[in-house]
Amino acid sequence: MERYDGLSKRASELPASPIRKLIPYSDETEQRGVKVYHLNIGQPDLKTPQIYFDRIRTFSGVDDYTNSAGLKELREKFSQYYKKWSIPFETTDIIITEGGSEAVSFAIAAVADPGDDIILIEPFYANYAAFARFLGVNVIAVTSKAENGYRMPAIEEFERVITPKTRAILFPNPGNPNGVVYTEAELQSVMDFALRNDLYIITDEVYREITFDGLKAHSMMDFGHHEKIIVADSLSKRFNICGARIGAIASKNKRIMDAVMKMAMARLAANHISQYGAIGLFDLPDSYFKDMAREYEKRRDVVYEELKNIPGIVVNKPQGAFYLAAKLPIDDSENFVKWMLQNFNYENKTTMVAPLGGFYITPNMGKNEIRIAYVLNSEDLREACSILSKGLEIYNQRKIFAKR
Ligand SMILES: *Cc1c(COP(=O)(O)O)cnc(C)c1O
Repeated sequence: MERYDGLSKRASELPASPIRKLIPYSDETEQRGVKVYHLNIGQPDLKTPQIYFDRIRTFSGVDDYTNSAGLKELREKFSQYYKKWSIPFETTDIIITEGGSEAVSFAIAAVADPGDDIILIEPFYANYAAFARFLGVNVIAVTSKAENGYRMPAIEEFERVITPKTRAILFPNPGNPNGVVYTEAELQSVMDFALRNDLYIITDEVYREITFDGLKAHSMMDFGHHEKIIVADSLSKRFNICGARIGAIASKNKRIMDAVMKMAMARLAANHISQYGAIGLFDLPDSYFKDMAREYEKRRDVVYEELKNIPGIVVNKPQGAFYLAAKLPIDDSENFVKWMLQNFNYENKTTMVAPLGGFYITPNMGKNEIRIAYVLNSEDLREACSILSKGLEIYNQRKIFAKR
């Protein structure tokens, strides 16, 4: 079809990552010798636990394909881990994936056909839309608003967007990009809605341990009806091994897991050496998670304290994960991000955040919103946020002058 310039419709319509597409701008800024504080990408800076590397060093023999479901020992570790959270997954309910990304893709593929749709809560983790489009699945969205703390939208909003082709609801908890941890009542309302409309729930729980202020992130598995639930999980954020590409998909629904197994077989196996190393991570004491959550909580406080006094900002205190979303008193956050890279620096330093427009499916939403990933130490974060607010002030003055 000429229209697509010789490519598939899928290829030509795939959304570019709203974050990664700005990287050429920051590369250019860095080449000019300006230091860029990267608060734009959600990749933790904390050290990978040494036990992972120590185990990998003992790897020998053949780096062959593992079973397509993953190494049995790793699946057993996952099962024990879930049981600590009172989530009753047996080894046979779990398949190891190439990160949470593949788990989400498999989950969508297992329940939705091309032309079907899935419900996301916008602003959403931007790759969800790419995974769905790749499979020819439509994304429809209910909107959570900055002014409401990005809380779960009212169920009437879900009723309004659902179609006869809607197959599932997909959302993370704790949340990316907003750091929301949903209450039991919010999650129960989604469960009730899903049951009433015979939808699956694809629940992305990759940030399970990272919660603040003593809150617990409830798993959707805490609400029963296990045959309707698919859990997408990952070790990337929990153990700071984003590069290892290890996650898991888990469900009590045997028909779903049989289908997922066929998908897993088609891609042969997840990375063998990473799986082997990851087994050791499950032996870390619980204090490991507590320390990690406390570190992110400290950073959350720094970012929130620095930003909350910006005139005109709408900012909510995140309760989990390592992101903060905010509405800024600006016209266009993508322009602002580019401007911060191209036209602004303070003592030869600038700050890069992620514009939130690409985290929405509804046109023009999120245009004045940004996401900050607090993946730097507190001291750097404080400076990065202060540079951001200095830049913002000048950006807005510049606009006023331009209009005159
Ligand atoms: C980072 C992330 C993922 C996927 O990460 P993987 O490295 O593929 O495991 C999935 N969901 C959310 C919400 C994320 O932030």
